[in-house]
Amino acid sequence: MDKIQIVNLLKSSDKELFYMADEVRKKTKGEYIHLRGLIEFTNICKRDCFYCGLRCENKNIERYRLTEDEIISCVKRCVAAGYKTVVLQGGEDDFFNADKICDLLKRIKHYDIAVTLSIGERTYDEYKEFKKYGADRYLLRIETTDRNLYKKLHPKMDFDNRAECLYNLKSLGYETGTGCLVGLPNQTIESLADDILFFKKLNADMVGIGPFIAHPNTPLAEEKKDNFDLSLRVMAVCRILMPDINIPATTAMETMRPNGRIIALNSGANVVMPNMTEIQYRSKYEIYPNKICVNESPDKCVNCIKQKILSIGRKISSSKGFRFDVD
Ligand code: SAH
Repeated sequence: MDKIQIVNLLKSSDKELFYMADEVRKKTKGEYIHLRGLIEFTNICKRDCFYCGLRCENKNIERYRLTEDEIISCVKRCVAAGYKTVVLQGGEDDFFNADKICDLLKRIKHYDIAVTLSIGERTYDEYKEFKKYGADRYLLRIETTDRNLYKKLHPKMDFDNRAECLYNLKSLGYETGTGCLVGLPNQTIESLADDILFFKKLNADMVGIGPFIAHPNTPLAEEKKDNFDLSLRVMAVCRILMPDINIPATTAMETMRPNGRIIALNSGANVVMPNMTEIQYRSKYEIYPNKICVNESPDKCVNCIKQKILSIGRKISSSKGFRFDVD
């Protein structure tokens, strides 16, 4: 598929795309869905991304940071739920320096569970250390490959550095996840096609696509739009272009549509990341408003998502779900 073909698929409203993506998913990934327990362990962030509610300029948010023991008890809950992966996600919080992350990894690796880190841009040496202590995967969305848009949304950040982080992660042997936001102000369909081609060029092992949702305490507060259908199209094209990668049905999809994750699972996705963060912290990890399940306990999320998956005739995998694993 070239850029023109991708653009045409994204611009069309033909539902056949979703059917095609679902067929590809069936052939390459089968019926098994991988559950990755998400632990939102700090909402403290030094960055200022214009779309994100955790941006440091947002003073209207109560900040928190989990202790190491709290993180480990979340990990234990993931193990008890049968999850084979934990995802440690947070703002860019310098308190969690390389030593602290490595200490955590050492403790988590006592359990038979894969670890995904999603803690933003770090140096090559830090990524190397994390790998040494057992980190398996890393999630770092490029957010957008439109350099002008990237600059506007992250005035103090550097697109090239973010891209370099992704290439460093790949070269260090991480299963590398990336992705983009869909529906950002002034984002074009052409640039979304470039995003998809970037994922392909990077040889990403995982691609997470989510609709941009305007957050009231950010400079983009007024940019409200319904980006669900376009996000789903970007995701479906990713599946067709990269048949064997892991693709999550993102939480933001469900925030935009009831059953958004199920719709995504029927349009190419094969991964779900249930929120395993303790209830008292959930509402504070407000990257965008109206996040689902902020008043639900982790145990409730475990059961609820399981039921939903079984109700559409899919199965829950008991493997770690690396890109090339076969269930
Ligand atoms: N600090 C980490 C984790 C960021 S939070 C990092 O830099 O990778 C995870 C993702 O949430 C981001 O990559 C971004 O794509 C998404 N996100 C942030 N604000 C959002 C918004 N307003 N709407 C939808 N998704 C958002």
